[in-house]
Amino acid sequence: MIDLHTHSSASDGTDDPRQVMEAAAAAGLTVVALTDHDTTVGWEEAAEAAARTGVALVRGTEVSTRVRTPEGAGISVHLLSYLHDPTDTALAYELERTRTSRRTRAREMTDRLARDYPITWETVVAHTGDGATVGRPHLADALVALGVVATREEAFATMLHPGAPYYVAHYAPDAETAVRAVRAAGGVPVMAHPGAGARGRVVSDDTIAALADAGLAGLEADHRDHDAATRAHLRDLASALGLFVTGSSDYHGAGKRNRLGENTTAPEVLEAIEGQGSLPVVRS
Ligand code: AMP
Ligand code: FE
Ligand code: FE
Ligand code: ZN
Repeated sequence: MIDLHTHSSASDGTDDPRQVMEAAAAAGLTVVALTDHDTTVGWEEAAEAAARTGVALVRGTEVSTRVRTPEGAGISVHLLSYLHDPTDTALAYELERTRTSRRTRAREMTDRLARDYPITWETVVAHTGDGATVGRPHLADALVALGVVATREEAFATMLHPGAPYYVAHYAPDAETAVRAVRAAGGVPVMAHPGAGARGRVVSDDTIAALADAGLAGLEADHRDHDAATRAHLRDLASALGLFVTGSSDYHGAGKRNRLGENTTAPEVLEAIEGQGSLPVVRS
């Protein structure tokens, strides 16, 4: 069983990277990708655990990107990058710029929330892992700890969604630029949950075609945020554009209901990813 999208406490998951690997073993996975938001900081700890747990590790990153729109703030697109060189300067620069902007944005959202709720930046920091990429889930955890809401889910439904007055956007590179940067770094770019409409606007098939021209390798069709019709459409689109399809859990530990291995990727797709990537899969 191959699951190519998970998060640890290096971003907004609740397990540390070692615990993700242990949970992957317990769930019966043979291969797991650690894809924290905009960082590679969890790779080393996960790679050490790969040997002990017997679960092979695909080193990845979920890159925040944006598709510009004529009006408004653009559409958020998550781009999974697999097996890229973490020292590639251009990609590392973009990721650092996004992480820095995420920090400023989390502070600004905290200030806005603090007008109505007893939240402080110190509480948010206390709920963010050392060196982790900060995100709205950390604000949610602070709100849960302070008794304002019961769960992350409730925080997102009531005060953290893009339509809420507390919402602030962060910097993210243009999606096409990011696809090219991932390829230039020897990575394999796959669009995460392309049809997850509940998160906000989704991009058009034409935009996905343009990203395919720029070097996109695959679409994450099998994801819990897609219904059967969306999955079927993404499969057809992938086939028309010469892209492969992946499936994954988008596991966040206790931060989300998603269970490891709830969606999986075919072995021949993993072979294609390894064939195109600049790093090997870490095997025990
Ligand atoms: P951000 O990256 O800061 O914009 O926050 C988005 C992240 O929040 C996503 O990557 C998810 O991990 C998480 N998220 C979104 N919606 C929910 C939800 N309803 N419950 C828990 N986590 C969520
Ligand atoms: Fe996340
Ligand atoms: Fe995502
Ligand atoms: Zn994710």
